[in-house]
Amino acid sequence: MRKVAIIGSGPAGYYSAEALQKQSGDAVAIDVIDRMPVPYGLIRFGVAPDHQSIKAVYKRYEKVALSENVRFVGNVLVGRDVAMAELLDLYDAVILATGAPEDRPLDLPGSGLAGVVGSAAFVGWYNGHPDFAALDPPLDVAAAAVIGNGNVALDVARILSKTPAEFAGSDIVGHAFEALGRSAIRTVHVLGRRGPHQIAMTPKELGELGHLEDAVPKVDLADFPAEADDSALEPGLRKSVTHLRDFAGLEPGGRRKTIVFDFFARPVRIEGDGKVERLTVERTRLDERKAAIGTGETYEIDCGLVVTCIGYRTPPIDGVPYEADLGRFTNDEGVIGGGLYCVGWARRGPTGTIGTNRPDGYEVAEKVLAEAADGGKAGGTGLDRLLGARGVDVVTFGDWQRIEAAETARAREGSPREKFIDIAEMLGICR
Ligand code: NAP
Repeated sequence: MRKVAIIGSGPAGYYSAEALQKQSGDAVAIDVIDRMPVPYGLIRFGVAPDHQSIKAVYKRYEKVALSENVRFVGNVLVGRDVAMAELLDLYDAVILATGAPEDRPLDLPGSGLAGVVGSAAFVGWYNGHPDFAALDPPLDVAAAAVIGNGNVALDVARILSKTPAEFAGSDIVGHAFEALGRSAIRTVHVLGRRGPHQIAMTPKELGELGHLEDAVPKVDLADFPAEADDSALEPGLRKSVTHLRDFAGLEPGGRRKTIVFDFFARPVRIEGDGKVERLTVERTRLDERKAAIGTGETYEIDCGLVVTCIGYRTPPIDGVPYEADLGRFTNDEGVIGGGLYCVGWARRGPTGTIGTNRPDGYEVAEKVLAEAADGGKAGGTGLDRLLGARGVDVVTFGDWQRIEAAETARAREGSPREKFIDIAEMLGICR
């Protein structure tokens, strides 16, 4: 039987496992390795907590995880607990499904000031990622600036604008729920360096902003091209732009918070005395290739929090070829070479929805099964032996189910779970 290791238990990892199973008729043993003691990666730590219908896709991954030839090997960090070269020795193929959990940095004067945070950190904070539990973003300020015009910027703007009641049914973690409930933020600026026709926001997500309890979106129609030009847009984008135009007709009606869309606004400098106090923005216009070019005209936005939502990157792994400018592994349609493959954001860069990873996983699985012969390798047995000798506290899927049951048992009323954040606490539950 062929032995395959998949590194990363998010959507790309489990779609690949599912595809390997289906295409091989179960004649493959799969270990899904994750550095966290909990599975599902982006579903748990990235998807917004108030988007439970999107998160429900985890049930499909759970079905794969519970099948006989698939194991979850949690709390194992490749590079620390086991080397990549060791995995390539133990398995017939290794698939990197490590996602893109790191922020693309915003290189601006002042971007190191307290109160400037990347979306990976901010999203991780409200989603209970152990790495960002201590973020403590400043919410005792009147205004925040969210940089970027993609769906992550929308998630962040929405989470900053919701009332506690609007988090009913979500699995936002307790510390973020309480901090956001005390938030003094009344204005959230969403900054796009280009215009309304260049946004990367999808209609459903954008439309949500028009129905918030205590916040109203605001646009300036002077930023928009002639309405007739919308007809040339692809249907999804056209719908998003229609939502934006409709925002112009909304009245606050007693709602206390405003989400202001600043288009043609390129951040140039962040300033403050030890912490962010203002952001200087340069107005832009588009050149013939629709790239933003500065006009030299600047203005200031007073804000005590800046969240950069300008994209992510895959962390490099020693010895694996990497394209730094694209933030992903160097690959030829998922093939890295020497038994190594990549899928999802690690393959393509951070674009596309969760569903995009399905065909991606299926394509890479096909290549693995065509190229990787059964080499009589030790597979999971060998990995267990090696990790055991190193004293690594491996978390199995059964262990995770115990953590999950404890999270459900301690959930706030109306919430599906209250996530554990501390890894030692999680390990304590399953031991
Ligand atoms: P994204 O869609 O690539 O958007 C990034 C935004 O950042 C763009 O507006 C980009 O502007 C801007 N940007 C990049 N560099 C910048 C800079 N130096 N200064 C100012 N602005 C800059 O990325 P994302 O929002 O992180 O989302 C990642 C993927 O996850 C997307 O495919 C997204 O659709 C998906 N996602 C989906 C959902 C959902 O379906 N509910 C939720 C969250 C994320 P330019 O266009 O000018 O480069």
